[in-house]
Amino acid sequence: STFPGDDSGDLSPRQTPGVLYSKAVPTPVEEPQLLAWTEDLAGEMGLDHPGKEDVDILAGNKVTSSMKPYAACYSGHQFGNWAGQLGDGRAISLGELQQEGKLWELQLKGAGPTAYSRHADGRAVLRSSVREYLMSEAMHHLGVPTTRALSLVSTGEKILRDMFYNGNAAYEPGAVVCRVSPSFLRFGNFEGLAVRKEVENLKNLVDWTIENHYPHITGENKILDWFKEVVDRTAALMVEWHRVGFVHGVMNTDNMSILGQTIDYGPYSFLDDYDPSFTPNTTDLPGRRYAFGNQPSIGYWNLSKLASALLPLFDDSEGLEEVLHTYEEAFWSRYYLMMGNKLGLDEVREEDKKLISNFEEVLPQIKPDMTIFYRLLIDMPLNASEGDEQLLKHFEDSFYAEAEEPSKTAFLDLLKRYASRRNQNNITAEASRELMKKTSPHFVLRNYLLHQAIEGLENGDDSLFEKLRDALKEPYNDNNPEFFKKRPEWASKKAGCSMLSCSS
Ligand code: AMP
Ligand code: MG
Ligand code: MG
Repeated sequence: STFPGDDSGDLSPRQTPGVLYSKAVPTPVEEPQLLAWTEDLAGEMGLDHPGKEDVDILAGNKVTSSMKPYAACYSGHQFGNWAGQLGDGRAISLGELQQEGKLWELQLKGAGPTAYSRHADGRAVLRSSVREYLMSEAMHHLGVPTTRALSLVSTGEKILRDMFYNGNAAYEPGAVVCRVSPSFLRFGNFEGLAVRKEVENLKNLVDWTIENHYPHITGENKILDWFKEVVDRTAALMVEWHRVGFVHGVMNTDNMSILGQTIDYGPYSFLDDYDPSFTPNTTDLPGRRYAFGNQPSIGYWNLSKLASALLPLFDDSEGLEEVLHTYEEAFWSRYYLMMGNKLGLDEVREEDKKLISNFEEVLPQIKPDMTIFYRLLIDMPLNASEGDEQLLKHFEDSFYAEAEEPSKTAFLDLLKRYASRRNQNNITAEASRELMKKTSPHFVLRNYLLHQAIEGLENGDDSLFEKLRDALKEPYNDNNPEFFKKRPEWASKKAGCSMLSCSS
């Protein structure tokens, strides 16, 4: 790399002004064992099924001569506050792989301390590693931009962590995930350089990012054009999260990918009941900054921090501000398109926007299970003669509680208005249903399922883990009826299962 880096190999946590990365050395683990290998991804990357030596690499026990492992230096805003230098504290990049014109950076998560490890050992527990492994793959198959996971290796070591469900410290098995992406650069990489007034480094990093990851952008205005595309991709990602009901949980600027991907799987969750104020992150209470319904505006807030970081590269803020304001249009145009598909509409007419916002107003009153509701909507009876009781009955499987007045009437009114709109479609009923089926998933990786799969793995039973790995590959087909169920009572929020702390 042409970047300023720190090659000292000093792993003690410290400030590293003037550099974009520090040399990192994975710390070997006792007994690496391959728990999962992502065949389709490996195929794309041109990799064969791993032998023993390859597993050693995936565990951080072996570094080949072509690898120059490093940890990236970045900063960021956490929960709205400037947090200073952060950096890869539990992630080590091994290097890049090029295959058929595609670039893959391989990064080990949980392979030991780096110069940026904060108050901890750089290790990851099996629990959080399984969550990252399964969810990034689930998001990929849902069609949502995301980093991916190539492998999951257990380390044979125990790590001391606080358990999220009872708050008691406990030893948990450790694991290492090898995650891959064209780049793990975050907004925070740019913010750090700006705050340190390292304008030359900032300029180099921006140029490098454009050249390597946005090569179609050239010309005099390339930095603004690039920022516009980052704005656009971030807006698109927020719409995609909304489509599938994904709550990231920790949208700090150091967790915002410069490629517009979902990155850093921590205390995330899918929505079960449709509640825009839901956050899965216990450290985000009572503020709920990163709640489901706030994600689009937080995306904008984060972009405004990126814009501030780019300011030293311009004479004034005018251009950056103008581009930043394109977020709104980028978001809403995609949002209405997406919702039109979710509702099976042939197009989104001006008056349909009202219908769409009605869904957003009424669903939080009824709080049906989001995934089940949108799938039941596909085959909802559309004839006007349908009685109220039949209509309610159709959606019964999505209700966590019986619908009460006045929400019940609002819900029925909405459904009737919606049915009459769908009857005005200029596409066939079948085409409308197909549109809905490929927009609203049948299978989502619910927290309680992850919880059970992790418990199984910890006790040597990988059957649910393997079933979930299978199911997440075809989330729009209805071939997994056993998972098409509401969150069970025992896993309700009050029982603590859908809430996770940041340290997960
Ligand atoms: P995250 O919540 O994963 O985005 O992490 C926030 C910051 O804390 C990052 O700088 C991480 O590198 C650091 N961090 C989190 N967990 C650990 C750990 N187990 N060991 C060292 N650093 C960590
Ligand atoms: Mg992070
Ligand atoms: Mg994390």
